[in-house]
Amino acid sequence: MIINLKKRTLGAIFAGIFLLGLGSYNLAYHPHMNQWKNEKKVVTLIKTSQKVAALTFDDGPDPETTPAVLDSLARHNVHATFFVVGHRAEKSPQLLQLMAAQGHELGNHSYSHNYLQFKKNDIAIFQSEIERTNAIITLATCRTPTLFRPPGGYLSDRLVKYVNEYPMTVAYWTWLQDPKDWRVGKKGEAIAQHVVSNIAPGQIIILHDGADNSLETARAVDLLLTQLIADGYRFVTMSELIQLDERK
Ligand SMILES: [Zn+2]
Repeated sequence: MIINLKKRTLGAIFAGIFLLGLGSYNLAYHPHMNQWKNEKKVVTLIKTSQKVAALTFDDGPDPETTPAVLDSLARHNVHATFFVVGHRAEKSPQLLQLMAAQGHELGNHSYSHNYLQFKKNDIAIFQSEIERTNAIITLATCRTPTLFRPPGGYLSDRLVKYVNEYPMTVAYWTWLQDPKDWRVGKKGEAIAQHVVSNIAPGQIIILHDGADNSLETARAVDLLLTQLIADGYRFVTMSELIQLDERK
């Protein structure tokens, strides 16, 4: 009896530690991920029969690499979504204005981009991170973002609830379309190849305009758009893609 109880107690402790770990880590395998996706609280992929997808760019704006990405998009007349980091955005409001003027969507990617701050799972931190960045974007572009992408992909019940009640949508990405373009040394050809070989309707592709490797990302954008537009794909902003969702 005592042994059984101990076993059960130990099991419960291990399960608790396991769930706690999942709850506070950057994982598409969060135990509530499927429920959040079904309720459209976290968006990772859209159901559509059309050849349409969204390019998203994180961690900018950067005065050197963001314009290179914007040039690649302009060459193909494609509108994308930029998840900007508040502390970088406030130094380059002219880049935010340029993005908006070129028809791109701006999303919120927190103020500090500090995963450890989010890991505290504190409403006051969520509020400050989201509101500061929304204010910077709104001031520069006269448009208030509706999409929030957590730094490092941090997810918790509290964060998802907070963001949805804001109201904003948690803008995740499609698991298959994370080519890790930020890794220094990754060539544009390899990044483009990853996206082209995994493409399917309704995907949200995650790239980076504000990382050390982002000049390669800019090259990849040019390459992958050349290929995929020739294959009949079109690219829209993430909010436009969400509007095309065929799920009830
Ligand atoms: Zn990021």
